[in-house]
Amino acid sequence: MGYEDKVRRVIPYTPGEQPRGKVIKLNTNECPYPPSPKVAEAIRNLKISDLRKYPDPLCSALNSAIAEHYGVNEDQVFTGVGSDDVLSMIFLTFFNGQDPVLFPNITYSFYDVWASVYGIPFRTIPLKDDLTLDPAEYMNSKNSGIVLANPNAPTGIEEELSVIRDIIEANPDSMVVVDEAYIDFGGETAIPLLKDHENLIVVRTMSKSRALAGIRAGYALGGSRAIKFLNDVKYSVNSYTMNTVALAAAKAAIEDEAYFREITEKVIRTREEAKKELKRLQFTFGDSKTNFVFARHEGARPGESASDFAARVFEGLKERGIFVRYFNKPIVNEYLRITIGTDEEMKELFKALEELIG
Ligand SMILES: *Cc1c(COP(=O)(O)O)cnc(C)c1O
Repeated sequence: MGYEDKVRRVIPYTPGEQPRGKVIKLNTNECPYPPSPKVAEAIRNLKISDLRKYPDPLCSALNSAIAEHYGVNEDQVFTGVGSDDVLSMIFLTFFNGQDPVLFPNITYSFYDVWASVYGIPFRTIPLKDDLTLDPAEYMNSKNSGIVLANPNAPTGIEEELSVIRDIIEANPDSMVVVDEAYIDFGGETAIPLLKDHENLIVVRTMSKSRALAGIRAGYALGGSRAIKFLNDVKYSVNSYTMNTVALAAAKAAIEDEAYFREITEKVIRTREEAKKELKRLQFTFGDSKTNFVFARHEGARPGESASDFAARVFEGLKERGIFVRYFNKPIVNEYLRITIGTDEEMKELFKALEELIG
């Protein structure tokens, strides 16, 4: 119809629901605690009259705070509007080859969407039956790049750093992107590998462990040359990505180490308790190193399959005002992804699960 054959058509990513009203929200891996009080202070201290000016396109104050935090140079830091923006720029910048970009068949479901919208060839590599990574495939296949979420989402499973290092070393001619959205909940970061590996870029978000999903702040750490390439693309798309409020809030969040430790440790404690409860209710799950658990149940009613159970319990929880994530796709449709909330929220969840299991 008219212009329509000229449209760039895509099947978009579907974000988790953001229901209104009083619900228990365990569906998008947000932090159940508020951001650091220093964030509130930083926002209060902003001069409203300064909003008439463009923000700093270099994001210098924030980048230098991040650089200091991780002991890298400021020119090794790239910031963006959430790690989704950072990852999108990474796909656009580094994946311009002919061979496919590789990532697992079960992982963050935005990767194939970015590849599709930018026309990047990609190939998904099946996880093993226990939902762990199959490293050999990444070491022996021609590729234009590799993307690994570690710990992986939505499985919650962490791959050992030595395996990540082997993959980076086996692919000196490709950029290897390690998406560490959940690393702060007990995983081992690849950041120390940056020193010796130019083909590594590590991506982080402030949405989960720093309780700032609403502010939209994410960043990447890499070699200074790689970060320069990334900035060249960014400044060819949109120079002013992060706004003045987000820059100030994100800076305050990265500087408040004590508060960050307090809330992540609380989430980890609650997660370990939740694992015990889920086990008692006969769920099975990998050893989550994230702020969620990806749990499967054999079924609680006669003839009920794991996927029937997941679909029924997802709906049943929703009727009770408790939102978890359910992916209606093969393999993952046997699981519920449950974000770790406060202890009180988890108590409500387990009460409801007990009713639904009967
Ligand atoms: C949540 C998440 C992101 C995106 O986070 P934002 O910074 O909020 O855009 C990226 N990757 C993974 C694996 C995630 O789970």
